[in-house]
Amino acid sequence: MTAADHVNHARGLPSFADVDAARQRILGIAHRTPVMTSRTANALTGAHLFFKCENFQRAGAFKFRGACNAIAALSDEARARGVAAFSSGNHAQAIAYAAKLQGVPATILMPADAPAMKLAATRGYGAEVITYDRYTEDREALGRVLAEERGLTLIPPFDHADIIAGQGTAAAELFEEVGPLDMLIVPLGGGGLTAGSALSAEKLSPDCEIYGVEPEAGDDGRQSLKAGEIVTIAVPRSIADGALTSRLGHLTFPIIRRLVTDILTVPDDALVEAMRFFAERMKLVVEPTGCLGAAAAFTGTVPVAGKRVGVILSGGNVDMASFARFF
Ligand SMILES: *Cc1c(COP(=O)(O)O)cnc(C)c1O
Repeated sequence: MTAADHVNHARGLPSFADVDAARQRILGIAHRTPVMTSRTANALTGAHLFFKCENFQRAGAFKFRGACNAIAALSDEARARGVAAFSSGNHAQAIAYAAKLQGVPATILMPADAPAMKLAATRGYGAEVITYDRYTEDREALGRVLAEERGLTLIPPFDHADIIAGQGTAAAELFEEVGPLDMLIVPLGGGGLTAGSALSAEKLSPDCEIYGVEPEAGDDGRQSLKAGEIVTIAVPRSIADGALTSRLGHLTFPIIRRLVTDILTVPDDALVEAMRFFAERMKLVVEPTGCLGAAAAFTGTVPVAGKRVGVILSGGNVDMASFARFF
C-alpha cells in the first residue's frame, strides 16, 4: 500500500487493493461478462469501442458484483440475521439474488412504481419486498428504521466501500481483456460504478480518461464536480430509472473528484436511439440507464473519435412492454 492508500483507508475510502480482494470473493459467483465490438458503431463514431456487457451479468446488471462482494465480506453473525437494501431496482435484485446464493435472508425496500419486472424478479429471488413512494418518502430513513427494528445489515446501493470495490471489478476485467484504453465511459447514478471503475483504471490503465454520464434531467454529478462539493437535486424524472439519484455519495464523490475527467449528460431520446442500435445491430437488450455511456459516445458528447474507448453497458433489465413503448 502507498502512503496515499493509507490516508484513503483512514477515511473509509476503498482502493484498488479492495477491488482486487473483491475479484477473489466474487470469483465463480459473478459472471465474467463478454466484451463486444461493432464495426458499425466504430464507423459511426470514428473510434474503436469496446462494450463491456453487464447486461449479461447475473440478475441482469453490474450491481450483482457489489452485492456479492458486500455480502461475502459480512461476519457469520451478520449473515445469519440477514441483509436489507433500498433500491429503485437493480441493486434490490442483485442483493436478493446474491443473498439467496449465499444462504442469507434479504428484505428489500422498493419504490411502488418500480418496473413490474424488477419487483417480480426481486420477490422471485426469495426476498421480502416492502414498497414506498419514491417522490414523497425518504427511503434512506425508512431503510434505517427497518434495519434497526429487525437487526439487519443495511447494504446501500453505492456509498459503501465493498459496493464500490465490487463494481470496480467490471472495468478491471475489461482492461485485462483489451489492454489499456484512452477513455472509459460509465453510466453514473450515485457513482459506485464510476468510482470503482476509476480505481481500476488508475491501476491498470493510468492514462485512461474516465467519463461519467448522467441523464440530462438529473445532472447533480456534473454540478457537484463543478462546485467541488456534493450538490443535491430533486429526484429527477428520466427513462434512465437506474440513475434517478439526487446526489453522489460521501465515499463516491472524493474518488470521482480525484480521478474522473468529466461528467456529462445525455437526453432521454439519445438513450432510446442507443437502445434501438443495440437491439437491431448487435442483438443486445440494454436498459435505458445501461445506454448512458454508449449514447454519450454515439452523440459525440464525449469526444471519442480516433480513440480506443471502453463503454460499460451497465444493465439489461427492461420488460418487453416498456421496451416496445419506447419506439
Ligand atoms: C445502478 C445503475 C447505474 C448507476 O450506478 P451507480 O453506482 O449508482 O452510479 C447505472 N446503470 C444501471 C443499469 C444501474 O442499475
